[in-house]
Amino acid sequence: MLEIEGLTKTFMRGGLLRKSAPVTALRDVSLTVAKGESFGLVGESGSGKSTLARCILRLDQPTSGRILFEGQDMARLSPAAMRRLRARIQVVWQDPYASLNPRMSVHDIVTEPLVVHRAAIGLDSRGRTERAARILAQVGLGPQHLHRYPHEFSGGQRQRIGIARALVTEPALLLLDEPTSALDVSVQAQVLNLLVDLQARLGLTYFFISHDLSVIRYICDRVALLHRGELVEQGPTDTIFDAPRHEVTRTLLAAMPEVVVPD
Ligand code: ADP
Repeated sequence: MLEIEGLTKTFMRGGLLRKSAPVTALRDVSLTVAKGESFGLVGESGSGKSTLARCILRLDQPTSGRILFEGQDMARLSPAAMRRLRARIQVVWQDPYASLNPRMSVHDIVTEPLVVHRAAIGLDSRGRTERAARILAQVGLGPQHLHRYPHEFSGGQRQRIGIARALVTEPALLLLDEPTSALDVSVQAQVLNLLVDLQARLGLTYFFISHDLSVIRYICDRVALLHRGELVEQGPTDTIFDAPRHEVTRTLLAAMPEVVVPD
């Protein structure tokens, strides 16, 4: 589904100071995510995880290398083909407080991607509302919530709304950028279980970014380790956890808290 080949990303200005040196955030990164798989990308802060996510979403342009989605080179698509493709890749951000517009109702938040991608999806206003209600039900929220506002919800409920917004275009690939790390531990478990359940029910492919190895172990089939912009190790989750080969992996595992297994 997703193939990343020799991806390098260099920021020419490495920070706020105009004269600072270039920063290579990703160096020759290659990985493949199969359809229906839950792929985990782990790395410490500053290792390049967000830059890789931004390159997949075309919010950043790679300096070199290719990203193929369903066999198509994303850099070579026409603007119309790109719009169709972007409806099939959605994202759940880390912070459900910052990522939901406080002035928009749940209805408008969840249907916004349908409006943005209306050329690709083609639902009228009534169809969009029906779709929003159906998707909200899938994340465990009733239709009475459609006309409420983000401040009326708890953190876990807000992240459910964020997940509904990501699912509303019926994407094939969901990019999850630390989707539970801003939540309380008990709520984290509920949201993780929801994500596991949704993946099985909807046949989704996950690209799951986290610095939390216990979360990755719980949810991912395969995992890759990013360290200072380079992929130092990747493989099936059990293999990486039971027999890590790279020193960085071993160090991260040694620092890992007891695995919290959600109910
Ligand atoms: P992570 O998500 O793993 O914390 P990032 O992808 O945010 O890591 O950052 C990787 C490196 O790239 C860091 O050194 C960061 O300072 C640098 N970086 C990220 N975005 C920019 C940018 N827009 N301009 C300059 N440097 C950046």
